[in-house]
Amino acid sequence: MKTLRSFVGGRWVEGREPFATLVNPATEEPLARTSSAGIDFGAAVEFGRSQGGPALRELTFAQRGALLGSWSKALHAKRDELIALSMENGGNTRGDAKFDIDGAIATLAHYAELGGQLGSLRALRDGDAVQLGRTARYAGLHLWVARDGVAVHINAFNFPAWGTCEKAACALLAGMPILSKPATSTALAAWRAAEIGAGLLPGGAFQFICGSPGDLLDQLGPQDVVAFTGSSQTAGRLREQLARRGARLNVEADSLNAAVLGPDVQTGSATWDLFVQDVVRDMTQKTGQKCTAIRRVFVGGDQLASAQEALVERLGQVRVGDPARPEVTMGPVSTADQLRDVRAGIAKLASESQPVFGGDGSVKALAPEGKGYFVSPVLLLSRDPAGARVMHKDEVFGPVATLAASRSAADLVRRGGGGLVCSVYSDDRDFLRQCVLAIAPYHGRIYIGSEKVAGQTMGPGTVLPQLLHGGPGHAGGGEELGGLRGLQLYSQRVALQGDRALLDSIAPAPEQQKS
Ligand code: NAP
Repeated sequence: MKTLRSFVGGRWVEGREPFATLVNPATEEPLARTSSAGIDFGAAVEFGRSQGGPALRELTFAQRGALLGSWSKALHAKRDELIALSMENGGNTRGDAKFDIDGAIATLAHYAELGGQLGSLRALRDGDAVQLGRTARYAGLHLWVARDGVAVHINAFNFPAWGTCEKAACALLAGMPILSKPATSTALAAWRAAEIGAGLLPGGAFQFICGSPGDLLDQLGPQDVVAFTGSSQTAGRLREQLARRGARLNVEADSLNAAVLGPDVQTGSATWDLFVQDVVRDMTQKTGQKCTAIRRVFVGGDQLASAQEALVERLGQVRVGDPARPEVTMGPVSTADQLRDVRAGIAKLASESQPVFGGDGSVKALAPEGKGYFVSPVLLLSRDPAGARVMHKDEVFGPVATLAASRSAADLVRRGGGGLVCSVYSDDRDFLRQCVLAIAPYHGRIYIGSEKVAGQTMGPGTVLPQLLHGGPGHAGGGEELGGLRGLQLYSQRVALQGDRALLDSIAPAPEQQKS
């Protein structure tokens, strides 16, 4: 069996016993093993701080962008291999695997382009310079500079390649060295993406931990950053641990994302079709293991019965099984623990809502008898969404959603306590203005599905590098991506004041950069 190694101190090292085993979740066949036991995390952090940080900060944004561009191209050259690994270890269909791998390639390419646009600059100005004295000579300005530490990236199991690369793109372009740790159970695609990229980056700029984080977080201090994606429970532990050390923490956690169907949307319209397509795609893509997946569906008018009928019909076309079989459209969940949690979550939801598709999640999968972590898509119907508790509180990380009618959908949306994304489907401007502004403080992103964009959207579940990813409250309170905004997590904002000509020479404005 293949042993996955970690990349620390400039070389690939193999861990010691005990090893964790990575499996194919469709067949339960072991694929690889890994361990980080024996790694000196203190030395790795010091290597990043002393070698990687200075090497990156010496480079201009354009040069850092070029590194990201070469990593993106190298991944593209190995795209088929990466897709195969993602299918094998993640239980992904080919389409699901492409979502992860192409997302990684595209996000690196996007930040490569942004780096190119910033050219010879090394630090970003925040706004314009302001006059402070009697004459224009005495001025002040704000600057974003890279923090003088390491960025530790801890990722969830569902997007091993994209998670690794989207975080890396922002940190490296900002000028911070990385220690990147994927979730162990699905690390294969992340490990290969790291292996492809590691040699392209300056020494110490990128290190990769395959396995447990050990005492890594105990090595951190106030100039360091941790970008975490995963469950609220783990996030809670990290908040306590890192508060003592003063390191900055960004959390991307659970989310009870909602879809709202406006009262104006008629069955059979383009907006209606988009709504049905998005809800079913979001429930079943990656077997519902997407932080942005729709978990709650609120129908704002008299269309509840039609919506239920349309969703049930589409869910009935889903073919659950081993993604190696071409007819399969939804694979297993990623691990045995994940299957147990999803089943328990369905049972909890069913204590207050009624399943109208998929029952308790049992399914006869297209796979070897008795093997694999399969679950059916499940749609539940709530007759009392205002009185319900579980549907607004517990994220079931699988192909599961609850449908309800409501004339005050915004109130229900807000009960989710803060989310990554909410989708609103309508062509009625008054309804949209009221609904969107009412739910906006509770979200990182709002997707508006309407007739005019029906043919060109990729749905609410697709995270784009141009737009913010993150959300308040329940979703963790973090912010990633959003174009150049994504660099701020890895930067310190500092005000400079003095002679305007000296300020300009220290930190040129974009139009003053050397060609
Ligand atoms: P998890 O169990 O919290 O694990 C997430 C990561 O944290 C893994 O890499 C895990 O490593 C690591 N970890 C666990 N305990 C740790 C500790 N004490 N110190 C440092 N690292 C630790 O979450 P998951 O099951 O992988 O992911 C599912 C959850 O992630 C879902 O709730 C989902 O909503 C959320 N998610 C959110 C987003 C978002 O962008 N908001 C995206 C994807 C997923 P090991 O694997 O080695 O244990």
